[in-house]
Amino acid sequence: MSKSETSLDDIVSLAKRRGFIYQGSEVYGGLAGTWDYGPLGVQLKRNIMQLWWKMFVDERDDMLGVDAAILMNQKVWQASGHTETFTDPLVECSNCHSRFRADKIDTSKCPTCGKTGTFGEPRQFNMMFKTQVGPTWMGWETDDGNYIIGKPQTVNAKGEGISSLTIPEDRKFSGLITYDKNAQSYLRPETAQGIFTNYKNIVDSFYPDMPFGLAQQGKAFRNEISPRDFIFRSREFELMEIEYFVHPDNWEAAFEIWRKAVWEWTRALGLPKNMVHELEVPADDRAHYSKRTVDFEFDFPIGREELLGLAYRTDFDLQNIQRVSGKNMEYRPKDGTPAFVPHVIEPSFGVERAVMAVLSAAYTEDEMNGEKRVFLKLPKHLAPVKVAVSPLLKNKPELVAKAREVYQMLKKELGQVVWDDNGNIGKRYRRQDEIGTPYCVTVDFQTLEDSTVTIRDRDTATQKRINIDDLRKEIT
Ligand code: ATP
Repeated sequence: MSKSETSLDDIVSLAKRRGFIYQGSEVYGGLAGTWDYGPLGVQLKRNIMQLWWKMFVDERDDMLGVDAAILMNQKVWQASGHTETFTDPLVECSNCHSRFRADKIDTSKCPTCGKTGTFGEPRQFNMMFKTQVGPTWMGWETDDGNYIIGKPQTVNAKGEGISSLTIPEDRKFSGLITYDKNAQSYLRPETAQGIFTNYKNIVDSFYPDMPFGLAQQGKAFRNEISPRDFIFRSREFELMEIEYFVHPDNWEAAFEIWRKAVWEWTRALGLPKNMVHELEVPADDRAHYSKRTVDFEFDFPIGREELLGLAYRTDFDLQNIQRVSGKNMEYRPKDGTPAFVPHVIEPSFGVERAVMAVLSAAYTEDEMNGEKRVFLKLPKHLAPVKVAVSPLLKNKPELVAKAREVYQMLKKELGQVVWDDNGNIGKRYRRQDEIGTPYCVTVDFQTLEDSTVTIRDRDTATQKRINIDDLRKEIT
């Protein structure tokens, strides 16, 4: 089966069936754009995030990590331009009232009801989730910008007072807004601002050599107009971002270095080179802060779409912080050359899209002993389970005891090890193949005699006998 034949349904159903990813709040009918990770999904996601941290923080000497709060002072989002410009163009069908992002559909015809000419001019819709920090008074905003608080009295057409209890339940709160606008905050739509707002703290504490980068991983929230395509477009997702600070003269060289680093990342994820493509984003499509953006796209089962982005953010953010906060954001070079506000190269990696790309690239169907086999050809270092250990027969106590011993030993060393004694050996292999476990180890009667076990390889389905002492070397 070629990659292009893998459908999104194949991935979604495997992910649900085998405990990788479930619809968020599914038991209550779901909440659009939210997804919950099950035991295997969370391990896969963690393996991806830990690999990223290892590659881009631990193994480099020009990078430091941060972990900023999700809730930030509203001034952050005013200064960064997000309250004004973090918008998507929204269109609504006048016939069926379905809403879409105007740049993602052909607006001459409604994709839901099929009617033509039902869309008007797009309206700019801000994608940040608003929230309040601390207890707030609730009230109604009046036309002149004042507020009515407490229980307003409703009147009928004759001006006679009506008890508020007569207002239908579902209408009671319509028009309600928060009274204290200073308590307004947002769920962050990107992690980058948590880095920029800490830039000065970190320079003061560490005074790193220029160029240097700050890395952060964490949740981001976007009130997407139409979340879709499994985890690809979610309303809550995880980002891994790097802000790399450079002298303004050196941004182009740094951009090239990060471009190469991004390619290395896609290789580490096991994504075939011919499925990853660069797209030079035209000026009109770039985010408000970017002077150059290269999107890295991947051939997902839904088509070629953005996997991650690499942007040159100039000194846009630090200059804004300097202007609004009044604090100096200049870097003083150690060689005594003039101080400057650094420019920034930003590789921005979405975890959900990485998970979806890894699953799509790994999804494989072949034939084994005349039967169809579905398996995940995950890179070993990403597989949520590294090895499954089984006794050949689960009703032979001596085999079970020895297998438990092997299991405990491997579990202690590798962590991501499972015990599997359900069904016959063939079924166990299929089950492990489907979740991408690279190795299955079986303890049989010969193990009791010579301390050897069989180890089966997921991709080739071949088995060999090796000594228990050599297992760790073979697996890692
Ligand atoms: P798109 O054009 O697909 O909306 P974007 O250009 O707005 O994406 P960026 O702002 O560059 O995306 O965000 C950086 C990365 O965050 C993206 O490359 C992607 O991996 C991820 N990302 C963005 N929006 C979402 C989302 N709604 N769900 C999952 N991941 C997302």
